[in-house]
Amino acid sequence: MSGQVKETAFYDLLGVSPTAGESEIKKAYRKLAIKYHPDKNKSPEAHEKFKAISHAYEILTDESKRRIYDQYGEKGLSGQGMDGGMDAQDLFSQMFGSSMFGDMFGGGGGRGRRPSGPQRGKDMMHQLKVSLEDLYNGKTSKLQVTRKIICSGCDGKGGKEGAVRTCDNCHGRGIQVMLRQLGPMVQQVQQTCQACQGEGQIINEKDRCQKCHARKVVNDRKTLEVHIEPGMEDGQSITFSGEADQGPGIIPGNVVIVVSEKAHPRFKRKGGDLFYKAKIDLLTALSGGKLHIEHLDKRVLVVEIIPGEVIRPGETKSVANEGFPVYRQMARGNLYIEFEVEFPSDNWASEEQMKKLEEILPARAPLPAIPAGHDEEEVVLSSIDSSQKSRINGSGNAYDEDDEEDDMHHGGGPNVQCAQQ
Ligand SMILES: [Zn+2]
Ligand SMILES: [Zn+2]
Repeated sequence: MSGQVKETAFYDLLGVSPTAGESEIKKAYRKLAIKYHPDKNKSPEAHEKFKAISHAYEILTDESKRRIYDQYGEKGLSGQGMDGGMDAQDLFSQMFGSSMFGDMFGGGGGRGRRPSGPQRGKDMMHQLKVSLEDLYNGKTSKLQVTRKIICSGCDGKGGKEGAVRTCDNCHGRGIQVMLRQLGPMVQQVQQTCQACQGEGQIINEKDRCQKCHARKVVNDRKTLEVHIEPGMEDGQSITFSGEADQGPGIIPGNVVIVVSEKAHPRFKRKGGDLFYKAKIDLLTALSGGKLHIEHLDKRVLVVEIIPGEVIRPGETKSVANEGFPVYRQMARGNLYIEFEVEFPSDNWASEEQMKKLEEILPARAPLPAIPAGHDEEEVVLSSIDSSQKSRINGSGNAYDEDDEEDDMHHGGGPNVQCAQQ
C-alpha cells in the first residue's frame, strides 16, 4: 500500500494507519466491536458507532473496495453497490461465529469451532441451595466462582508482542480444506489445521507466554455477593452480567445463579402461601386449646382454638398474612394449617370414664334396620399388619375416603391400627 490515500476517515474510525495490514485492521475492528456491540454496550451512541466501525471494516478488508477508497475516498465508493452492503450484525457474527468459512479471523479468535456462531461466551449456571428461612427473611450469600480471564501476562495474545503470527498453512482460519475424490465428484472436506491445531496462529516455543502457556486465558476465582431477596422463588435466577469465562474474541457470558429452595422440615411453600401440618390432641380438637408454631423469622405464633370450635382430622384453617412475603411487593400470603388429630391409644379410658363420655358426647347414630329377607351375621374386626397396609395403599388407595385416618398413623410403626372407628 502506498500510504498516499485520499482520506483517512475509515482508518481513523478503526484507529489504524492507512498502511495497516489486513490482520491489524481485523484486530482493531475486533477490539472495537467488542466494546460497542449492542449486546454488550447499551448506550445509545454505541449502536451507531458499531455500525460505523463495521462499515469501515467491511471496506478496508475488501481489497478492491479499499483500493477505490484509498484512491477516491468515500465518494468513490458510491455507485459501487455499497448500499447493498453487509449488515453490521451479520458482519459481526461472521467474524466471531463460524459458518462455513466464517471464521476469517485468524488473528486470535481461533478458539476452536463454534457450531452456531455465538458472539458471546457461554453463560455459567450455578445452583444455589437456599433455605426457606433465607428466602423468607432475605440474605446475602457469598459465592465463589472459578472462571477464565484474559491472561494479563500477554493480554490474551498467547505470547510476546510480535511473536504471534498467523498460521501459513490455514491463513489463520484454523481449518484446512481438503479435496476428496468421491466417485465422479470432488468433495470439499474441512478439518482442523494440523500446523496450528486449529488455533489459526503460531507462537514459537520460546516466545510463549509463561503465565498462561500460550493458552491466552488463566483461571481466576471471584467471590460474588448474591442477594437473596425476601420472597424469591425456587428456580428464580440472579444474573451477573459478563462475569463468565473471558476469552480472546469473545464477549463474556453471564454468571447465572439459580435459586434452589431447600425442603423444610416444618413448612411447605406454594408461591406466597405456607402450609403447615399441626398435630393436636383429641381434647384440644373437641374443646379448644392452644398450639405454638415456630415461624421462619423466629417468632412463635400462638394459635388459639376457641372452645366450641371443633377441629376435625384433616381439616385446614388459615391465618391471614402469615404466609410468605411476595417478591418485591408489600403483599404477604397466608399460612394454612392442616390439622392432624391424635387419638388416644387403645384402652385409654376406664369403663367408668367411657360411661361419662356417653353422657357427654352426642349419642351413637342408630343402626339402620336389617332389611327383610337379609340374615344377620356377627364378624370379628382385626387390626391389619404392615404388608396388608402397603397392599391397600399400593393398589389405587382403597382407603381414599379415609385419608385422614391414614395420615394420622404416620410414623406409628408397624402396628398401625386402621380399624379404629
Ligand atoms: Zn499469557
Ligand atoms: Zn493453521
